[in-house]
Amino acid sequence: MKTPEYNRRNFILNAGKASLALGLSTTVLPAFANTLDEEYKKRFVEGKFQQQPLLYKFDSLQTAIDTQTMEIHFTKHAAAYCKNLNEAYLSEIGTKSKSLEDILQKISKYSPKMRNNAGGHFNHEMFWKCMTPNATADNNPTGNLADNIIGDFGSVEAFKTQFADAAKSRFGSGWAWLIKNKKGKLVIGSTANQDNPLMDVSELKGKPLLCLDVWEHAYYLRYQNKRADYIANWWKIVDWSFVEKKFDEK
Ligand code: MN
Repeated sequence: MKTPEYNRRNFILNAGKASLALGLSTTVLPAFANTLDEEYKKRFVEGKFQQQPLLYKFDSLQTAIDTQTMEIHFTKHAAAYCKNLNEAYLSEIGTKSKSLEDILQKISKYSPKMRNNAGGHFNHEMFWKCMTPNATADNNPTGNLADNIIGDFGSVEAFKTQFADAAKSRFGSGWAWLIKNKKGKLVIGSTANQDNPLMDVSELKGKPLLCLDVWEHAYYLRYQNKRADYIANWWKIVDWSFVEKKFDEK
């Protein structure tokens, strides 16, 4: 993990404090927990599911996403999905052990609250990993992934255009996706609200490789109605090494 030393220190410090306070041994707080408010800390440490530490700071993605949007998005919106997922899990699953993927694959069996928040938690945890502050100026897919993108879409540019169109044309709130389908082919699509391609209710089905949050909360402070500008800038911070890893793994 490429965590800078000062983040590692805070991470260990805060994880230790929280573990002591709650009598837990596995609690993990995000790397920037020392800067987070009490309401967030309380939310974060309760329940089965937790937000994973961000591997960068809220102000690290400003090429595409402003600091305040990152902070509110992570500590309020995404934290709320996690908290509400834990509530739904307690009331609908209780003490049985189910993974998030198990739940998503049979999401039609659960409540709308579970659908919104299991999706919301999965989607945001993936979204943070799809982005990096370390992208180079020419930020494009490489290797096996690039070969397959060119094979399935004609060119990297054609792929980006099609993905951006999916993101722009998703009416209201939702997500754009690059997935690998059952046959190993790359497919672009979008889902409404917090649905995702792992859900049995989703028309778009497959292994998620890359996702883009097009809810207004993801971009409105800086871009207002200009979703297309947000998407155009977002390509500059995509972590293609993450996408390639997802593509190559089984
Ligand atoms: Mn979001």
